[in-house]
Order: sequence, then C-alpha cells, then structure tokens
Amino acid sequence: MKVTDHIKQAKGKTLFSFEIIPPRKGKNIQELYNNIDPLMEFEPPFIDVTTSREEYIYIDRDGLFDRKITRMRPGTVGICAAIKHKYDVDTVPHVLCGGFTKEETEYLLVDCHYLGIDNVMALRGDAMKEQKYFEASKGGHNYAIELVEQVKNLNDGKYLHDVVETDDKADFCIGVAGYPEKHIEAPSLQSDLKRLKEKVDAGADYVVTQMFFDNIKYFEFVDLAKQMGINVPIIPGIKPIAIKRHLQLLPKVFKIDIPEDLIFAVEKCKNNKQVRQVGVEWATQQSKELQKAGVPVLHFYSMGKSDNIKAIASKLF
Ligand code: FAD
Repeated sequence: MKVTDHIKQAKGKTLFSFEIIPPRKGKNIQELYNNIDPLMEFEPPFIDVTTSREEYIYIDRDGLFDRKITRMRPGTVGICAAIKHKYDVDTVPHVLCGGFTKEETEYLLVDCHYLGIDNVMALRGDAMKEQKYFEASKGGHNYAIELVEQVKNLNDGKYLHDVVETDDKADFCIGVAGYPEKHIEAPSLQSDLKRLKEKVDAGADYVVTQMFFDNIKYFEFVDLAKQMGINVPIIPGIKPIAIKRHLQLLPKVFKIDIPEDLIFAVEKCKNNKQVRQVGVEWATQQSKELQKAGVPVLHFYSMGKSDNIKAIASKLF
C-alpha cells in the first residue's frame, strides 16, 4: 500500500515510521531484524531502507595500490523484500541518482514492481568522498526531479527506450527530500523550496524532511511550502542525538543548527550513555509537540540501533 494511502487511512492520527541502513557486506541480516523487532509493537505502516552509493577502496598489492570501486552496503531492494515478507509491512527503498545509470534504475524499479513494493524515495545522493561536488554518473541523472520523472513515466508504461503495452502498470508512490534549514548547496531557502515545488509538480506524492532539532524550523518550512503551493504531506524526520561528537558532525554534514539548550545538555554529559539519554528526552519533547500539531507521520532516523527510538516511541504510540 502507498505511504499516502496509509496517511489517508489514519484519518489525522500521527503514524510511526523509521528508516534503517542495510548491513555492511558480509554481515548477517539477523542483526537488522534484532533492531527492527523491538519497534514493530508501534505498528509502523512502512519502513524506509536507505541506499549507500559506491565508494573507492584501495587494495595493497606489494606497495602499489589498486583502486577498485565497490558498494559497502548493497542490497536495498532485497532487504525491502525480506522485511516486507517477514513483518508484512510496506517498505520504501531509497533510489539514488548518484552511482546508477538510468537503465539500472529502470531494472531496480521493475524488480520493486515484481516484489509488490509500491513506494520509492527519489533522491539525488551526495558527492563521493573524493569529489567536491556531486557529479552525475555517466548515463545517470543529475537531480532528484529527473528520477521522479523516470518513475512517473514508468507508472505510465513509458520505459526508457520503449513504451510497453501492459495491463500491469506500476503505480509507485514517490517520496522526495525536503530541507527545513535548506539543502547545503542551495543558495537560499526560497530557491531550495522552488526546487522542492518542481519535484512535487513533477509527481512527488510526499516529502520527508531532513532532521532538525528545533520544531519552529519545521513549522516555518511547512508554512512556506504551503504558501508556495506545495500541498502534499510533509513528514518530519527525527534523529535523536546519540554521541557527543554529533554536536560537530551533524551541523558539518547536514548544515543544520543545534539549539543552545541541547548543546548545553549534551556538553554536561560525562559519557555517551548520558548523551543518548539526553537525545531521547529531546526527541521525545520534539515528537510530542509535532504529534500535537497533527503531523501525518513521525519518521525516525534509526541509524541501525533501535533502543533509543523504542524509548521515544513508547512515550508516544
Ligand atoms: P535534489 O532535490 O536534486 O537537490 C539537490 C540540490 O540541487 C539542492 O540544493 C537543490 O536546491 C538543487 N537543485 C535541485 N534541482 C535543481 C536544478 N534543476 N537546477 C539546479 N539546482 C537544483 N542520501 C543517500 O545517499 N542515501 C539515502 O538513502 C538518503 N536518504 C535520504 C532521506 C532523506 C529523508 C533525506 C532528507 C536525505 C537523504 N539522503 C540520502 C541525502 C540526499 O541524497 C542528499 O541530501 C543530497 O545531497 C540531495 O538529495 P535531494 O534528493 O534532495 O536532491
């Protein structure tokens, strides 16, 4: 079932969902299940599975380094199918421009359709570690909007190189990313919102936001988006701070602000166990306020560990 249908069916009740990262190559999927199991009591209607782009590795061959390209966390669609099968829950694979040709994306979408996966999150992806700026892969897309267009075309039976007569058309529900504190590369919040509007006009059905720690940023973003004519659900993404280093890491990577009170509380902590507790308390307060404001879904970035998400969800759902 589509994410947007789950939202409609909930009739204003806030839903719980979360995002997981595929395990590194060679790890057992059981570890992932061990982190999903404790969250199932909160009845998530859908679970997102991220995609990591390819990276370079250097193999030492008697002092000479051989550069190879590899994907450390492959298997997004397989994991989506496994979770769907095991828990009878909808899954949302993240589909990236970076690292994929348009043809590879088409085959991935065809696989999703065969597997009964009705939702995809269409994202550009970030630059590779070695790159200063994002560069489209040869034969790939430049921006998320192009992915949205490809998925929409597929829904209409238009494949990349052929129009296929079929009575079994795909009908993907498409999510896209939004940034309450603007995307790191955008010249202004206004111009970033215009880009978001373009994605929605191209066919995106809902938006999931980047993490934020001050709800005012989310509420203002939603207001601005509405003024601009963006009328699809805007799902807030919540991440509980878990380690002290997040104070530097999260603003650097995602260009987001951390409120003074949260910085103060984290800095006072003697160890990361205490930081995790502060993160849970902050995210719980944030979530309670968002739930009261009637957000459609509270979407948690679990980063592979679920104890803190469980602690928050048990206060809300
Ligand atoms: P876009 O919408 O393409 O925007 C990228 C930038 O280009 C923005 O600054 C925008 O303003 C600008 N722009 C857009 N269109 C145009 C245009 N036509 N001309 C000029 N400028 C334009 N990354 C992963 O690698 N894997 C994941 O699984 C993943 N999941 C995510 C989930 C969520 C909810 C969010 C918020 C982010 C996620 N990301 C993920 C990160 C995301 O890939 C990066 O933030 C990336 O840098 C931008 O992706 P986007 O889809 O927002 O790009």
